[in-house]
Amino acid sequence: MAELAARAKGIDRASVYRTIDLFEKLGIVQRLNTGWKYKLELTDKFAEHHHHLTCTRCGQTIAMNEAELEAVIERLSAAHDFLPTSHQMEIQGLCRQCRTATSSTNNAA
Ligand SMILES: [Zn+2]
Ligand SMILES: [Zn+2]
Repeated sequence: MAELAARAKGIDRASVYRTIDLFEKLGIVQRLNTGWKYKLELTDKFAEHHHHLTCTRCGQTIAMNEAELEAVIERLSAAHDFLPTSHQMEIQGLCRQCRTATSSTNNAA
């Protein structure tokens, strides 16, 4: 990975974006939309399956891996006679720090 980063030095942005596009098509990375921005992440094939809680104010993401949620997805899919192969779920809201900042001082960090 470090070797890859070192080699990427001096490569123009367009090439980097094309490579990201390619990785997306190959299912190596996936785009996670967080409002009007997005983050790139390794897909389940390459990283452990998980979901995110994204703070819309400070942008921090909290990874969560809930067996309960997975079970519900399995059950609902089965109820619709559907075989799930993948899913993405992201919950947006405010993290504890941002909620505290809002309620006490009411100024955006
Ligand atoms: Zn926050
Ligand atoms: Zn899941």
